[in-house]
Amino acid sequence: HATDARDLARVAGSFALRGDVQSVEPYGDGHINTTYLVCTDGPRYILQRMNTDVIPDTAALMRNIELVTGFLHAQGQETLTLVPVRDGGSWLDDPTGAWRMYEFIEDTVSYNLVEDADVFRRAGAAFGAFQRSLAAFDASGLAETIAHFHDTPSRFADFQAAVTRDEVGRAASCRRDIAFFMAHADEYGTVTDAMRDGRVPLRVTHNDTKLNNILIDARTGRPRAIIDLDTVMPGSLLYDFGDSIRFGASTALEDEQDLSRVHFSLPLFRAYAAGFLGAAGDDVTDDELELMPLAARLMTMECGMRFLGDYLSGDAYFATAYPEHNLVRARTQIRLAQEMEEQADAMAQAIHDVTAGRAA
Ligand code: ATP
Ligand code: MG
Ligand code: MG
Repeated sequence: HATDARDLARVAGSFALRGDVQSVEPYGDGHINTTYLVCTDGPRYILQRMNTDVIPDTAALMRNIELVTGFLHAQGQETLTLVPVRDGGSWLDDPTGAWRMYEFIEDTVSYNLVEDADVFRRAGAAFGAFQRSLAAFDASGLAETIAHFHDTPSRFADFQAAVTRDEVGRAASCRRDIAFFMAHADEYGTVTDAMRDGRVPLRVTHNDTKLNNILIDARTGRPRAIIDLDTVMPGSLLYDFGDSIRFGASTALEDEQDLSRVHFSLPLFRAYAAGFLGAAGDDVTDDELELMPLAARLMTMECGMRFLGDYLSGDAYFATAYPEHNLVRARTQIRLAQEMEEQADAMAQAIHDVTAGRAA
């Protein structure tokens, strides 16, 4: 999917830039879109060719981003700023692909790994502030650009189908792992049911809360903006919270082969929860608070069953570096989920402690 220099210059020039384009160079280490840094004799910009395989409905995706960034701007919150196409519209439908342009958010840094509890606490604060700023936003106006993204029962149905098909004859080698996901089947509907009956409110879900999607002020160390809004969708705050805990409150990487190194860290859980709830404030409801520990385990199991399902389907979805890669990933998720289950009371207590100061 290489785009030649002449096309890049033409595409960049199609947007309403304040300055003459001087260079367009590949930028960053994103895995979904193709990202370029555009330098002009004025401001710098981020140009992205969107990945239409992952999200085919570009119009719906861009409308979601327009709605969310428009609302955040109106709240005075720093966020992505779209640069319109000169001919109108927020993105360019070109023979070389679907393109958009953002103003470059200057003087920031970001992290790739949870280096310590303080980094993770700040990440929690960034997403808590994101939720607080969007508390009054009507998420029902957002499009579900990837259907059933965090619909755990639907993910489980897909998993069961993969087990039944056993396409590449791997099921016999992972019976115990399969059994783990089968044994928890009665829990998968907990959040989706609570949303359906109105106990848990519909909110904006970011759906990709990894650390490098938070831009941090290079001078003050405070979170400035949440970026990478492609997967913004209507959903629950519990999805983002749970997924952050899944990847961030682990003592090892998602694909650690030595399971003895993989543990759920209660201190990291507490740090994220403190940051998140401190910034989200009283907008988080009691039902949401109560479900936060379970949501962490639910997102971990959902991710684990996706890895194992992909392993059973011959690694069709996730990129793998070796044949057992998806199985290794599934097993780290199982380990984390097991430890979260063991520590459920302590997790609930941590949420309680963090919110103890809240008005009744
Ligand atoms: P991912 O693999 O996280 O899904 P992606 O392909 O969706 O990545 P982005 O996260 O949108 O791409 O952008 C890639 C990188 O470009 C970011 O991690 C960040 O470093 C940089 N970036 C994106 N938008 C901006 C911006 N407006 N200002 C400054 N840097 C930006
Ligand atoms: Mg990103
Ligand atoms: Mg992304």
